[in-house]
Amino acid sequence: MFHKTRLFTPGPTPLLPAAQFAMAAADLHHRTPEFRALYRRVLGQLRTFVGTQNDVILLTSSGTGAMEASVANLTSPGDRVLVLTAGKFGERWTSLAKAFGCQVDVVSAAYGQTFSLDAVQAALREDTRAVFMQATETSTGVRHDVQAVAELLRSTGSEALLVVDAITGLGTTHLDMDAWGVDILIGGSQKAVMIPPGLAYLAASERAWKRMETTKNPRYYFDLRKERKAASNGESAYTPSVALIAALGAALDYIGAQAEGDLARGRELLVENAELCAAMTRAAALALGMRLFAPAAPAAAVTALLPPEGVDSGVIVKELKSRFGAIATNGQGEMKGHIFRVAHLGFFDPLDTLALIGALEHVTADSLPASKFKLGDALTAAQRVFAESRQAETAAVGR
Ligand SMILES: *Cc1c(COP(=O)(O)O)cnc(C)c1O
Repeated sequence: MFHKTRLFTPGPTPLLPAAQFAMAAADLHHRTPEFRALYRRVLGQLRTFVGTQNDVILLTSSGTGAMEASVANLTSPGDRVLVLTAGKFGERWTSLAKAFGCQVDVVSAAYGQTFSLDAVQAALREDTRAVFMQATETSTGVRHDVQAVAELLRSTGSEALLVVDAITGLGTTHLDMDAWGVDILIGGSQKAVMIPPGLAYLAASERAWKRMETTKNPRYYFDLRKERKAASNGESAYTPSVALIAALGAALDYIGAQAEGDLARGRELLVENAELCAAMTRAAALALGMRLFAPAAPAAAVTALLPPEGVDSGVIVKELKSRFGAIATNGQGEMKGHIFRVAHLGFFDPLDTLALIGALEHVTADSLPASKFKLGDALTAAQRVFAESRQAETAAVGR
């Protein structure tokens, strides 16, 4: 049998062919008018994609670079900060803030859950300088309520800046940074924007830029004010990943083209697409006798599933790959062997999702001969979700 390798991982995600061609053709020097035109265009597109009037900064680094930049630029040694965490990426905020000498308060929730707003309110102190969280926690497949945290901070009159790792949240979740009062919103290239790893981007509010003028933590490569100044001249401070920037431009063109060139609308369609693929996957998993790891607040970026009782999630991941060439991911850290994850962010569509569900039926049936479902049960459940969404769409167009 032929196996076509397909990524179902929440980063890196499948590559957009048009972006790959743009990369291959990007034979540009970064201190030229040609590059400056490209850079200005992509920064403008990114601003629309993020959905903000704020300046967007592009960094040649993985997503964690933008997380580090946020901590390094917004804090001073000894600052009290609050980390909201319910997974591996939340824990990364704690490690980063400690590495930069902050006093770190933590509100945590169990893996698979989101934290309570009451706990956040109780942990907020008068001298809390910044709050760090994820929009979606990729390690557990949970969506956190960014809007509610932002509103809480504003309603309590807190001086704390709100920093949101939306690396898998952008393009999968409706986010309104400016209206909600988010101070930093972070994205990464190997997630919803369909290109390889190597770029991170962030939008920063005027409050955040102001804070950077007085903070004392060290920064050099990740000096955001230096990057902002360079960007105003159409350049980056150091040699950027020119090829990835060309790819990003092509990917944002593609997302805009889904809505006749309206990139903001294209982003909404990308979010709705991820939501649909996620809903199809959840329905299918339940039909297979699996449980959702994050039933109360599931992310659209990635679905985390508990395999049927007695089956190691690693076996599912291994069999999906060896029998179908489908690359899903195991749980991270303590969650390894207990959950597996299937992504929906970026260049996925319902057809990819149906294919994965079909493969999952075979793999689950083989690993659990006494299972109660028949081949087709999960596909039927997913098809039903798909049909309902099509009906809703038709009704909306007819109105
Ligand atoms: C992928 C990811 C990151 C960044 O990881 P890098 O490997 O540094 O790109 C950070 N936060 C979340 C929620 C992610 O999904």
